[in-house]
Formats: sequence, C-alpha cells, structure tokens
Amino acid sequence: MKLKVLKIIDGTTVDGTGLRTSIYFAGCNHQCAGCHNPQSWNIDGGYEISIDDILQQVIENDLDVTFSGGDPLLQVEPLKKLAEKIKDAGKNIWCYTGYTFEEIIADPELKQILPHVDVIVDGPFIQSQRNISLHFRGSENQRVIDVKRSLDGQIATLY
Ligand code: SF4
Repeated sequence: MKLKVLKIIDGTTVDGTGLRTSIYFAGCNHQCAGCHNPQSWNIDGGYEISIDDILQQVIENDLDVTFSGGDPLLQVEPLKKLAEKIKDAGKNIWCYTGYTFEEIIADPELKQILPHVDVIVDGPFIQSQRNISLHFRGSENQRVIDVKRSLDGQIATLY
C-alpha cells in the first residue's frame, strides 16, 4: 500500500516536542486563506512511497514522528496502517490536520486514525486568529489535543 508524500524531514524541532521525523503528505481540501503551503493542496504533486519504505526511514532515524502536509487525513486508509506500524515500533505520533477533532470523531472514515496517534493538532488555519507566539500551531482556533484523554468528547489540550 502506498502514500503520496511531499517530503520527509529527519530531525525537525518545530512539528511537536523533541526531535522528530516529519512526514509531509500531499493533498489538502481545506483551502485556508493564508495557507503556508498552497503547493501542498494537489495530491498529485507528491511522490508515491510504500508504507514499508516510510517505516524503514522512521526506524533508521529512531525519532518520534509527525504527520503533516497538506492534510494527512486525506489518505486516512493507508495512513492508519502506517501509524499502526510506527506505534508497533514504539514511536510517539503527532498528526496535523485541517479537520477539527469533533469532525474527526463524527466521521467513520476519519476516526479510524484516532487509536493510532498520540496527539492531533486540529482545525484549519484562520488568518484573523494568527498568533506567532503559540506553541506548535499557527492560529488561536487550533488545539494541541491529547487524543487518548479526549476520546470521550471532553477535549484535553496540551500547551
Ligand atoms: S489545512 Fe493546512 S495545508 Fe491545508 S489549506 Fe489549511 S493551512 Fe494549508
């Protein structure tokens, strides 16, 4: 099974806590005004890579992992399988998405990712709520969510 990826960066410090392997997935349908990377919207702008090839790079780096983009949840089926394998390898996973946590929980397709990631940074980028002093997010509406503690609908945020 394959995923469309824009790039994989080894050892970032800006996409979550600590040093991380960041995987930027191609494709996004949120069209936020002021998006930092409109080139990421086209899913065909990325290259195809297998789950096992991504996993190998993650294991070689031996770092925790961040899914970013684009919106990783556009490829939720293969993403879920990748996340399962990364968790089996003992890594912590953060996932950025333009969907809100409430939208994810309400959607049978999207919610498949929840058992396999530790943190979701949710919601679209809203230019009028932009704040450069926020940790790990661009606008005030976005939240850094502890997934396990939020599955009952009572959202627990970090930072
Ligand atoms: S969700 Fe992220 S990548 Fe997608 S349009 Fe919004 S800011 Fe850009």
